[in-house]
Formats: sequence, structure tokens, C-alpha cells
Amino acid sequence: MAVKNVGLTALELYLDCPRAYAFERIERVPAHKPEPLLLGGVAHAAIAAYFQHCYGNGLSSDLERIPEICRVTWQTYPEQPLPHHAYDDYVGLVEAAARSYTLDAEHLGGIEDREPLAFERWTVWLVIDLWELHDDGLTAVIRDWKSDHHLWSQADAEQALQLQAYAWKLGIQYPQIQRFVCEYHFLRHGKVRRVEYDRSVLARFEEKLRAMIALREGAKDFPPRPGAHCQWCSYSEICPAFKVPGVVHIETPEDARHIGEEILVLEKRLKDRKEALKAFTAAHGKLAVNGIVFGHFLTESHTVEDLVTLGQVLAEAGRDPWELVRVDATKLKPLIRDPEIGPKLEPLLVDKSYSSFTSRKDKGGRDDA
Ligand code: SF4
Repeated sequence: MAVKNVGLTALELYLDCPRAYAFERIERVPAHKPEPLLLGGVAHAAIAAYFQHCYGNGLSSDLERIPEICRVTWQTYPEQPLPHHAYDDYVGLVEAAARSYTLDAEHLGGIEDREPLAFERWTVWLVIDLWELHDDGLTAVIRDWKSDHHLWSQADAEQALQLQAYAWKLGIQYPQIQRFVCEYHFLRHGKVRRVEYDRSVLARFEEKLRAMIALREGAKDFPPRPGAHCQWCSYSEICPAFKVPGVVHIETPEDARHIGEEILVLEKRLKDRKEALKAFTAAHGKLAVNGIVFGHFLTESHTVEDLVTLGQVLAEAGRDPWELVRVDATKLKPLIRDPEIGPKLEPLLVDKSYSSFTSRKDKGGRDDA
């Protein structure tokens, strides 16, 4: 089926789960948005309202107006009811965005820029949170606010199609732009992930966009495809995939707590079984089960303690010894905390932080960390 209007979010939704796409874009089933999605939506609206307020009043910032802007945006947001227990969290996100960026009216290109783009036979819809034009129109700086609890790694940001899409949109609208500095601002973490492109990104993105549209236009049926994206799905209540026994789906905080408890029990059972199998294979040798071998495998590895001689050997062989040097993050930590050395190291530090799913002991003894 040919499409006319194209949104990157919709195409990515189709690739993630054709059924969710059909519910939302074809059958127009009223959405039951999950809380994080609602919260992200209203926070983005309030952040845009805040920067528009600053721009309209010739201000670079106006933190004192945040409570009022948050209140009005919350009350007038079209998708109601909003989760009232998350109001403070919402205000915190807006404050974090306001503190992370001081409005530069002279270079401002757009706030919540929704202008559609005509591309070949399609109209493409992309919303850019905020962007600026620098260096006499040669460089665009694009900012995207992220309300996720999960902090992406730099590699995650580099793979994100969204940033390429923003660069592509501005590159077409403003042919003089040569460089695109795209930033994800992770509001909960105070971290920025920055990816830079030149104009070669335009052709690369167009190729991907055409391929995605072709997949969507060629779709004959729309089966459910359960995965991590189910957490953000507005249709999980009516999804046929969740009628299948054994499919795990978390709908409410109570569900999440139940799954967490199950994991704790299962992890303990798994640990006990691994210990028993470890003892068995230590005595009897390896055990093959359905193509997987359990047992004790030798890992061979070496290290060099005399780094000076290592450097000399490599230099004599015409190799650069510095290529082998890696700074150990654990050893670096106390140096960063050292009041004398830390400040001198500051300009050398490269931010490699990211978040990953795991479990840790709750030091406060609470149920919810
Ligand atoms: S709950 Fe998951 S599988 Fe079902 S429609 Fe939504 S995204 Fe697809």
C-alpha cells in the first residue's frame, strides 16, 4: 500500500512491531499510552513552552517561571489524565532541560520545529526539539531532550537514526549547512551524547529512508512482534501476543514487582544449579546438552609488568608503544578524586558513562531504589 505521509517514528514503529503500527496508524485504535510516554510527551511540551517564553521575552533563561509554565502545560496538555504522582518528576525534567541550555536567540533556528518536508513523492514529518545555526550558517547544532531512565552509550547515539534524520531535514532545508552537531541531552543524568555529521549523511539517510518506506509499502499483514518496545506500546492491553501463555509483559508497577521477585527466586535457583553442575563437571568432565557444553574451559592470557622494556621492544620493531596503552578506569577513579591531580586531569577525561540493566543491593533497605 502506497504511503504519502511519512514519519520516522511511525516507520520505526512498523519495523519494531507491525501490529502496533497497524493499531495506531491504520486502524486508528484509541491509544492507552504507558506512563513514561505520557510523561515524556508533556515534559517535551513544557520544555518547548519554556524556551518559547524565553525567546518571546528576549531572555536567555527564566528559571523562576518554570513552576507556572509546568502547571499550565500540565493542565492544558491534550492527553489527559496525566499521572499526578509523577508531577515532581515532570518538573524535574523541565528544570534539567532549562539548566542544561541557555537560549541563544541570535543563533536560534527553531523550537519544536515541525515543518514538514517534501521528499520525492512523500511528505516527511520530523520534530526537532531545538536547533541553532552557527558559523555564518555553515553549522547546525541540534538538541534533542531525552527523558529516559536509561543513559545511552556513545555507540548507541552514533547508531540512532533519529539524529541522522534531523541532520538530513536541515541539510535539505538549508543547503548552505555543511556540518551538523547533533546532541542528545539525557535530562535525568545530566549527560550529553554528541554525534557530528557532514553532508554525506544526507545520501546515507535517504537510502535508509527509501528502504524503510519500501518495507512498509510492501507490507501485506501486520503480525505482533514482542520485544523491548512493548514497554512503550499503547496497545498491550489488546495485543494478541499477550494472550499467548508464557509471554512476559509488565503493565503496572505491581506486575514489575512480581517479576522482580520471580527473578530473585530464579537467580537463586540458577546459581544453585550452576554450582552443582560445576562440582559435577569438575569431577566427571564436560557435559554436552542440546548443543551447549558445560564444564571448565581454559582461558589463556598473558600480561607484561615491565612496561619500559615492552616500550623499547616495540619501538625497536617500529611499532608505536602508546597504541597499547589503555587507562584502567578503576585505577583512574582515585586520581580523579585526588584534589591535587583531579582538576589537572579534568580536560583529559572522556565521558564513557552509560546505563545498563542489572540488579544491585539496595543500601537504603527500601523496596524501590
Ligand atoms: S504489545 Fe508488543 S507485540 Fe503487542 S502490539 Fe505492542 S509492541 Fe507489538
